[in-house]
Amino acid sequence: MDDIKTLGNWIGGREVAPASGAFLDNVEPATGQILARIPDSGPDDVDQAVAAATNAFPAWSALSVAERAERVEALAALIERDTERLAELESRDTGKPLRLARDIDMGRARANLRFFAQAMQQWTSASHDMGPIGFNYTRREPLGPVALITPWNLPLYLLTWKLAPALVTGNTVVAKPSEMTPLTADALAALSLEAGIPGGVFNLVQGSGAGCGQALVDHPGIKAISFTGGTVTGRRIAASAAPRLVKTSLELGGKNPAIVHADADLDRTVAGLLRAGFTNQGQVCLCSSRWLIHDALYQPLVERLIEAVRRLQVGDPNLGSTDQGALISAAHRDKVMAFIDQARREGGRILAGGESVRPEGRCREGYFIRPTLISDLPDTSRLHFDEIFGPVVTLQRFSDEEQAIELANSTDYGLAATVWTRDLALAHRTAERLQSGIVWINDWLVRDLRTPFGGVKQSGLGREGGRWSLEFFTEPKNVFVSTR
Ligand code: NAP
Repeated sequence: MDDIKTLGNWIGGREVAPASGAFLDNVEPATGQILARIPDSGPDDVDQAVAAATNAFPAWSALSVAERAERVEALAALIERDTERLAELESRDTGKPLRLARDIDMGRARANLRFFAQAMQQWTSASHDMGPIGFNYTRREPLGPVALITPWNLPLYLLTWKLAPALVTGNTVVAKPSEMTPLTADALAALSLEAGIPGGVFNLVQGSGAGCGQALVDHPGIKAISFTGGTVTGRRIAASAAPRLVKTSLELGGKNPAIVHADADLDRTVAGLLRAGFTNQGQVCLCSSRWLIHDALYQPLVERLIEAVRRLQVGDPNLGSTDQGALISAAHRDKVMAFIDQARREGGRILAGGESVRPEGRCREGYFIRPTLISDLPDTSRLHFDEIFGPVVTLQRFSDEEQAIELANSTDYGLAATVWTRDLALAHRTAERLQSGIVWINDWLVRDLRTPFGGVKQSGLGREGGRWSLEFFTEPKNVFVSTR
């Protein structure tokens, strides 16, 4: 891994250099060193990739469900075989702790592929009987070449989450990962050939969002776009796709509240909030970054939280003792630090963290920030409303249920919320009134892949998961059969 690797695109089953011959540097966030060079792809590369996906579509979509599922399961087995190698690539590319990459990202990548391979074999289509007149049956047909665009925070996890349902339903794919995290997507493309997925079924183009991503979104051969990323990019993609009426699924940003009611179990809540606030340095779209705490519990809970947050170890992602790795880039670290500086100017109290870190040794030039807790901000502070997407949590107090709901629903986002209480009726009432696509009661990030996943308001459009993903990647066709 110490030599700087030059990656290609994967088009039609072959690794190819970009048409322009231009490359971008890929930097390791934990060290600030160049890790790889990736194609700076543009419209010509996207054209080739869409042509390959178009050519591969008739044969791939003609396979039986069992034949496609078998290859997708084989890909999961190869990820399992190569877990250590892939986890190392993911950790170096993102800055996340190696332990997290191994246990969460690789585990979930395998589970995504296996889940959809099996789900597709259990999926049934509808039939509507009209008695003596006849009956209808509904076919679910693949769309053709589809675009998958994914962000840098959970690279292989989110790519496989889209790739698996796209492939098992019979589509072919052109994927574009973030230019900041190209490595595991590159490895996955190579493994897909080993798994028996024919060349051209899964194509990969690397490059910038503006150059390569936009060219993919605008390509007339693309039949659907599944996008996960920021809300601003999501809006741009929706606007580009609208004139051609291309189907889009948009999984966007969040500003997720955690509501802690007065009767919450302290131990359970401290452990849960710590995970919800700071997993992956707070760079998970589902992270709870606003902790809303009932007056009665505020003092004891916050004391425990300060102590727990200060104990989190920041440093080299390779060390087993590290809880918090690096943020994705110098620019992102600076953006997060600018929010912390703003909090200070607004009179916020920094209860824990609040500073960037330069660990000893190989990570001195990496992009690290201590996990940060901020209280006493004015209610109008942008820190309560803007997605920071880093290890920064703001605290607010509430005195009754009404106020908790009002604070929780006060942002433009609506992705995921958590509720902490022992009162069952209160928990369900709160869940019902939250403007959020997902609510966890007394837990965080427990995922059943059969359930609908997605956000309301500015957090997205559409749902992924289970039958929602299978429906997105297929078009229903109703057929009437006369029996008169
Ligand atoms: P981003 O800047 O929106 O980028 C996401 C992807 O879109 C990247 O591959 C990016 O490429 C590409 N892209 C950028 N501009 C594009 C364009 N004009 N056309 C086509 N593609 C374009 O988001 P990010 O900073 O990578 O990720 C963080 C965001 O993702 C946060 O807001 C987070 O909440 C959200 N997220 C949401 C979910 C969810 O499920 N709701 C899950 C994870 C993350 P480049 O990176 O190469 O520019």
